[in-house]
Amino acid sequence: MTTTPKNPQTLAWQAMSRDHHLAPFSDFQQVIDVGPRIIVKGQGVYVWDSEGNKILDGMAGLWCAAIGYGREELADAASKQMKELPFYNTFFMTAHPPVLELAKAIAAIAPEGMNHVFFTGSGSEGNDTMLRMVRHYWASRGQPQKQIIISRINGYHGSTVAGSSLGGMSYMHEQGGVVPGIVHIPQPYWFGEGGDMSADEFGVWAAEQLEKKILEVGEENVAAFIAEPIQGAGGVIVPPETYWPKIREILAKYDILFVADEVICGFGRTGEWFGSDYYGLKPDLMTIAKGLTSGYIPMGGLIVSDKVTEVLKAAGDFNHGFTYSGHPVAAAVALENIRILREEKIVEQVREETGPYLQQRLRELLDHPLVGEVRGVGMLGAIELVRDKKTRARYEGKGVGMLCRGHCFNNGLVMRAVGDTMIIAPPLVISKAEIDELVTKARLCLDLTLKDLQA
Ligand SMILES: *Cc1c(COP(=O)(O)O)cnc(C)c1O
Repeated sequence: MTTTPKNPQTLAWQAMSRDHHLAPFSDFQQVIDVGPRIIVKGQGVYVWDSEGNKILDGMAGLWCAAIGYGREELADAASKQMKELPFYNTFFMTAHPPVLELAKAIAAIAPEGMNHVFFTGSGSEGNDTMLRMVRHYWASRGQPQKQIIISRINGYHGSTVAGSSLGGMSYMHEQGGVVPGIVHIPQPYWFGEGGDMSADEFGVWAAEQLEKKILEVGEENVAAFIAEPIQGAGGVIVPPETYWPKIREILAKYDILFVADEVICGFGRTGEWFGSDYYGLKPDLMTIAKGLTSGYIPMGGLIVSDKVTEVLKAAGDFNHGFTYSGHPVAAAVALENIRILREEKIVEQVREETGPYLQQRLRELLDHPLVGEVRGVGMLGAIELVRDKKTRARYEGKGVGMLCRGHCFNNGLVMRAVGDTMIIAPPLVISKAEIDELVTKARLCLDLTLKDLQA
């Protein structure tokens, strides 16, 4: 925090952080020097810090809190399940009601032909499971050489060894190494990398990189292509309209599996149940987490198509699983979360009302001198901060994104910075009035950031 805390308890917690806590994706020394903001409470779309500041959470925690904070039904579902059966495994020919009911509930909302779920504790574990499963699938079909997984530069697929290898973040690959047999192609990030091409031309070009890569490494060696329908952590990268249709064409030509990483796009964020529905994709596998439980409890998984399931069923043991695969308390919470999403028609509301409203209001920021592009779908949005709107040139070396993020926090709004791209993914239940508040605060913070740059 930039200001000295008033609440003595804040200082005590910051001391505990300094003495004992190693925070993820953080510069440990910087956490000590700055002192973490301590979040103590959440309700609806707001969180409160230990200094009593009320903050509109434009990131739903970490893309998680779809139904917002403070829903007692989820707490009750967890409490009831903990008292009934807090844990049992799903290994060795056993199961329990919550995991089975959840698998059925997920199959009911998943795209056609996707009827089975393998549960994990997180999205990263879901992608680790995917890597082993697709290679096992091809080996079971007598093609063990089909090992290579094609992924995208600046994609995000988690932080385990397989997850970070699948992801296309070189600063992650540099720490700890990578799993062999994963190759990356360029991302469809027109604003950042499109050069002189039109967005549509660039979308086709980026999609063609998939075909180029398949031919380069040999179709007979490729197991799968994995991608987020809309890249999240990479900066809410909404591909040009030509991208997914061209990818679909290429996928239809070659005998490789398609994995949609739906950890962010899934469970309503685009206004459809899955990003694959939004783009009309036909994945063979889908990774899920985050919105599955609205983040109230950790859980992830892999939704598997009938085509893949049939092969695996004939292949004997799949020697893979986690102690917490299908954890009964997590499953009970996920079931309740899906019930709320369905019964309160939250996905429809994002599609028909609040999603379009957020997108329209965000685009009003385009008149701001700092804003080079606004893009988004449903409850996902990105604002590109630039020095020159025409050339898309940045304020190099100024850390504009972090500057803006700081102003946001200090003015009661969470927006995340990915480089100089500000991104938002608020709870799906955000109201129109709360969207107005979000956009008003965002504009104020853009003004404050511009003032800093002019000073
Ligand atoms: C967050 C995320 C993951 C990793 O999920 P964890 O639960 O953090 O392991 C994987 N893929 C995408 C697209 C994500 O956003």
